[in-house]
Amino acid sequence: MELTDLTITQAHQGLIKKQFSALELAKAFLDRIKKRNKKISAFLTVCEDLALFQAKKIDDLVFQKRKIPLLAGIPCAIKDNILVKDIRCTAGSKILENYTAAYDATVIKLLKNQGVIVLGKANLDEFAIGSSGEYSAFGKTLNPHDLNRVSGGSSSGPAAAVADNLCVFALGSDTGGSIRLPASFCGVVGFKPTYGAVSRFGLMAMASSLDQIGPLARTVENAKIVFDAISKKDPMDSTSLGTDKRFQVSPGRLLEQPARQASFKFQDLVIGIPREYFVRGIEPEIEAKILEAIKKFEKMGARIKEIGLSHTKYALATYYIIMTAEVSANLARYDGIRFGFSKANSKIKNFTPTPKFGAGTKIKNLLDVYLQSRGKGFGEEVRRRIMLGTYVLSRGFYEAYYLKAQKVRTLIREDFNKAFQKVDIILTPTSPTLPFRIGEKMKNPLSMYLSDIFMIAVNLAGLPAISIPCGKVKNLPVGLQIIGKEFQDYKILEVAQALEKTCRI
Ligand code: GLN
Repeated sequence: MELTDLTITQAHQGLIKKQFSALELAKAFLDRIKKRNKKISAFLTVCEDLALFQAKKIDDLVFQKRKIPLLAGIPCAIKDNILVKDIRCTAGSKILENYTAAYDATVIKLLKNQGVIVLGKANLDEFAIGSSGEYSAFGKTLNPHDLNRVSGGSSSGPAAAVADNLCVFALGSDTGGSIRLPASFCGVVGFKPTYGAVSRFGLMAMASSLDQIGPLARTVENAKIVFDAISKKDPMDSTSLGTDKRFQVSPGRLLEQPARQASFKFQDLVIGIPREYFVRGIEPEIEAKILEAIKKFEKMGARIKEIGLSHTKYALATYYIIMTAEVSANLARYDGIRFGFSKANSKIKNFTPTPKFGAGTKIKNLLDVYLQSRGKGFGEEVRRRIMLGTYVLSRGFYEAYYLKAQKVRTLIREDFNKAFQKVDIILTPTSPTLPFRIGEKMKNPLSMYLSDIFMIAVNLAGLPAISIPCGKVKNLPVGLQIIGKEFQDYKILEVAQALEKTCRI
């Protein structure tokens, strides 16, 4: 077995038994990145010096016979919208091409406290907006299973890096499926925790009421170990609650005992299958694969129940109103003055002014700086979202769109609450399609938006959900999504671990 194949537990054992050093482990990954990254573009920045420095520190601890945490010396990749102090953080955008993070995100602080090795920053769709990895301003991430296909987005780099053994695990962010979709396309595990379980401090905001950081890994066990390390209440994020039941919960949010040590039995499991998720548009082979998995779970003793989530049909529209509204507000801070690229002192190469301004336009006043910096710094899809968001928030449309969408969001949440009175978990495909070909959906943004159809209701409702590999169709990975009740993150992980084994049989 190669060093780059090891699970977290195996690597930990190897380190404490001195079968290899943290430095050797880090170097094995760095070498692999050097060989492979040119092909698949999973990393935007490789922090070799930081990684080697961190690894040496772990080796010193081992040498001194000190006890080291499970994650000490374990190399990881971090999506490039999560801040790592003194390392470039681009969000996949030209507007932040030369931006260096001034502090560590809370998740990074927590991982560094455990002695995790940060190998580098992973590629993504610009500002986490996209479903394929093709909207990165610095090159698309290719799918390691088939280089002609997309890796899924927006956490394209984290998923491809994990799938291609360029790291042991990665952190991604999920606003409307961005951890689960690339996990599904790349054949790895991707977990989106309950909204509030993980601090968002230091995550560049896309849509704050939907964003959540979570792990991508090759096994559910690995994802669970990472989740355990990062799910802490954080005073720097007022929406963070962690998963510890001792924490006070804001009114209306129910917090259940996380079933950390629950021993899993298939006989106790009631699985809900929402009829709204098995409809036209889903590729027949994917449907067959998921139904085959469900049959297996039934054989093992689980009870299957058909359920209805009747407002599912409004989820995509609701998401695209709320998300764009929040995107337009959050990205307003990139104005050419405070962060990154500015037309006031442009160093951007190949600058071609927007048609409105025409070649040779002089920047005359502050408004010009805003317009030019944002017009040139943001990519096309980001600008599209900002325009949509500004529109739904504008006077006269706010009530008709934004407020209405918030009401529908509540109905979607209630659908899930009702369903969870009857079932323990809900199973669906992660994506209606197999990983598509590069360029296939670039001309039609709406068809790209449809890739998220099975995942966004989960973000609107704030629930935990995981995508696990469930075999292959035409040699391409298929993902199975498990959705759980709010704050039952550990239960979902527990169940996923059991199902993962069955899926692989
Ligand atoms: N694909 C979705 C979008 O473009 C999801 C983004 C995300 O989860 N970050 O909005």
